[in-house]
Amino acid sequence: MESEARLELSSESSERAIEAISRYLVELGIDLSDERLRETPRRIVEGHREMLSGYRFEASSMVGETIPGDHDGMVIVGDIGFASLCEHHMLPFFGTVDLAYLPNAQGHVVGLSKVARLVEVLSQRLQVQERMTMEIVRAMIDGFSPRGVLVVVRAEHLCVTARGVKSRGSIVTTTFASGELRESGAQAYEARALILGQGR
Ligand SMILES: [Zn+2]
Repeated sequence: MESEARLELSSESSERAIEAISRYLVELGIDLSDERLRETPRRIVEGHREMLSGYRFEASSMVGETIPGDHDGMVIVGDIGFASLCEHHMLPFFGTVDLAYLPNAQGHVVGLSKVARLVEVLSQRLQVQERMTMEIVRAMIDGFSPRGVLVVVRAEHLCVTARGVKSRGSIVTTTFASGELRESGAQAYEARALILGQGR
């Protein structure tokens, strides 16, 4: 199930968080009396709050509202940008989501912006790329029962990149599929070819 709504910081807990971050930075040896750093703890808290705001929303409800129609073919939403925080280091990982789906049994689809919003809600949480990939697929299924979903996520992870010049720029690709796009039929093949075949 979805996480309970959280991270709606009251002003007191916000102040406590800013104090805690200040203490942490001081322990790291950073001089917070420097004029330029004065507002940094507050900005860190605000940045984290924004990057973790996805907990406040139920993911599947982002794609719960369908557009009636009798579409039968595949819908591909490509190149949805995202930024998330890895749950191991709270360092950013960021990249793109490509998603293919087949309309539900009634031929209904969802608005393109809804898919982007779903990606936003799931990425603005502490994540690992593999789980996020699966969660996007599951939220689509829970939201409006498409006959099949394929998701491909490509991302660069700062917790990897920051460790050395050698790994800089390395992209991790994860995929997950469900329903008719998980099977070995022509449409599953076509979806993979269309999404994975785009040279990047
Ligand atoms: Zn990490």
